[in-house]
Amino acid sequence: MTVTSAVSAARTILTRLHDVMASRSNAQAKLNTVVDVIGEGLDSEVCSIYLLREGQLELFATRGLAQEAVHVTRLGIGEGLVGTIAENIETLNLAEATAHPDFSYRPETGEDKFHSFAGVPIVRRERSVGVLCVQHVEPRRYEEVEIEALQTVAMVLSELIHSADLIDEEVGALGPQQTGPVRLEGLSLVKGLAAGNAVYHQPRITIEHVMAEDRDAELQRVYLAFDKMREQIDRMASQAEFGVGGEHEEVLETYKMFAYDEGWSRRIIEAIDSGLTAEAAIERVQQRTRMRMRQIDDPLLADRMHDLEDLSNRLLRIVSGQMGTAASQGLRSDTILIARNLGPAELLEYDKRRLKGVVLEEGSLTAHVVIVARAMGIPVLGRVRGLKGALRDGDLLLLDADAATVTIRPNPQMEEAFDARFAKNKQRQAAYAKLRDVEPFTRDGTRIQVMINAGLREDMPGLSLTGADGVGLFRTEFQFLVSATLPARERQTRLYRDVLDAAGDKPVVFRTVDIGGDKVLPYLRHNNGETEENPAMGWRALRVALEREGLLKVQARSLLEAAAGRTLNVMFPMVSEPWEFDAAREVFESQRKYLKGQKKLLPEAIRYGAMLEVPALAETLDLLAPKLSFLSIGTNDLTQFLFAADRSNPKLAERYDWLSVSIMRFLRRVILGVAGHNVDVTVCGEMGGRRLEALALLGLGLRRISITPASVGPIKELVRKVDLNEIGAAMNQWLSSPPPNLREALAAWAQEREIDTD
Ligand code: PEP
Ligand code: MG
Repeated sequence: MTVTSAVSAARTILTRLHDVMASRSNAQAKLNTVVDVIGEGLDSEVCSIYLLREGQLELFATRGLAQEAVHVTRLGIGEGLVGTIAENIETLNLAEATAHPDFSYRPETGEDKFHSFAGVPIVRRERSVGVLCVQHVEPRRYEEVEIEALQTVAMVLSELIHSADLIDEEVGALGPQQTGPVRLEGLSLVKGLAAGNAVYHQPRITIEHVMAEDRDAELQRVYLAFDKMREQIDRMASQAEFGVGGEHEEVLETYKMFAYDEGWSRRIIEAIDSGLTAEAAIERVQQRTRMRMRQIDDPLLADRMHDLEDLSNRLLRIVSGQMGTAASQGLRSDTILIARNLGPAELLEYDKRRLKGVVLEEGSLTAHVVIVARAMGIPVLGRVRGLKGALRDGDLLLLDADAATVTIRPNPQMEEAFDARFAKNKQRQAAYAKLRDVEPFTRDGTRIQVMINAGLREDMPGLSLTGADGVGLFRTEFQFLVSATLPARERQTRLYRDVLDAAGDKPVVFRTVDIGGDKVLPYLRHNNGETEENPAMGWRALRVALEREGLLKVQARSLLEAAAGRTLNVMFPMVSEPWEFDAAREVFESQRKYLKGQKKLLPEAIRYGAMLEVPALAETLDLLAPKLSFLSIGTNDLTQFLFAADRSNPKLAERYDWLSVSIMRFLRRVILGVAGHNVDVTVCGEMGGRRLEALALLGLGLRRISITPASVGPIKELVRKVDLNEIGAAMNQWLSSPPPNLREALAAWAQEREIDTD
């Protein structure tokens, strides 16, 4: 058969199947006609359909084999050729069926006279629900084009089977190459354990209609979708995050290559020519690629194929108009979310009661999505390779972010072991909870202030649950991130008032909006619509707020009104030079005057603070300190600027250590720099919530930290075991003549004193 004749054979078959499916006969009669149509169309002596029923593949219809075998012959998954095809979701094309090691002879079928055999899986939602096969007396391999026709027909059958309710959709359907347990490793981004079903953030599209009514209309749809997809990819290319070298650039290059690949579009068009809808044609070509991929064992190529898969999904989404993420469809059970990467706003769209964990192919410790997840108490495992190949939507996952692993489709022993760890974890949490009312005094009697980081109303119960001393960093931009439009003044005031009410007499430090960088607001073209090469060092935080004074004024008014009659603690992010602090404070002061003129009730006191995140500020602290009530060191940003290492670049995620001599010396300089001024110094970056890092910070002289609520218990426990004089002396010693590895030195020091720092 030539390509054209295969296409036309498939088309003829599809046209006839179309009539069969439209007929009023029952499902069994339809299947009986289907095997005749296919057998004739492909000029094959035998054509049989096996469908999955109660976990077995049952012969449902046949032309050429003994009719007595129908509904009698059954094969287990992985049993015989049919079972192997279903298990591996792969095509078999054999000149001599009996020569295959998996061949299993079934005398009741009378198949012994047929030598050649070809079979394709019938797939629905990436799972095998049956097998379609043809057999011939003459020992010959079927031609590629015949196999393709068979695969196309199998897609149509999948629709027929589904609409006739011939298989049980939920039970027993078989997955891709993997069916047993698989354990993958990654980088622990937020510790914790969780179990749940895998849900792809970008859901796979369910194709409802496979056979086209109007070929030209389908072609038109796919042409338009290709144009749109290429436009999107080109737009991505011009965006800053893809502008620089590295992983993104490679990914983009491949994307572009595939997006413009003539071979790919031609195959899709051919599939439409054979009678499929645009959706089915895209999926059909993708299935074929997947099947070929399975035969090539090259991890590099597998990565590239993953890109093509992404792109194919993108095309499917465009053509089918199903653009939403899994969040918009709602979670049905305990879920572990799967994504290449996520933005913080995307994560916040999920139902927190059902979202139990996140597994990312990329990700880094201080990316905002990870900070948000940490605040939500959701474990996150990042940088997991080979995820999509090993995983099906709905698979049960055991996420152990403490051990940096995720187990897919666990066996009972694995579940048992996990449950035991889970219980132990719970016990540990319960032990920390007991520390709630215990004040964190060091062994030498110094009271350490342990505060929490927050950003949403829902975070506030964390304060009483942990017994923390207050909120050391309230990220006000989170409200902006979860909102579809710019939050109006009344809404802001309400939130800030609720937060203060929830805090009672404990202080809350509000940070004015830090948007820009990786916190992008779709409704706010904060950079006049221009894309930035380097958004983390670009038009963000206080820089935006000072330019868009309206934004800051509204926020200042809201905060002042919310804190009426109480103390307002406010701080400004990304202060780089003292004048920026002055200008921001002036906005607050002028709003205060305005409100006073309006005879409004004002805060009893306003305490102004700055965040130290930009290294340059350290050089002018002597000028700024007299104006400050407090200084909060944002080590997430500070680290990225000190090391010139983008905090959200997954390649750099593990490269630099917070416990490096340079960071430690820098922090010591800052702490000493404000000593003597009446300024409270806090560290509010993620490092403060890690025990070994916190130990080092105490050794530098720091007495206040603001951390994620889940870390309060472990940090309190640590504080109570530390003697500040001792750790202070050790840090001094190490920073004067550094050991080869400061982290190891600290860990050994802690271990000698039986201080747990994991
Ligand atoms: C920081 O940079 O350390 C910080 C606390 O602010 P954010 O993580 O919100 O940028
Ligand atoms: Mg910051």
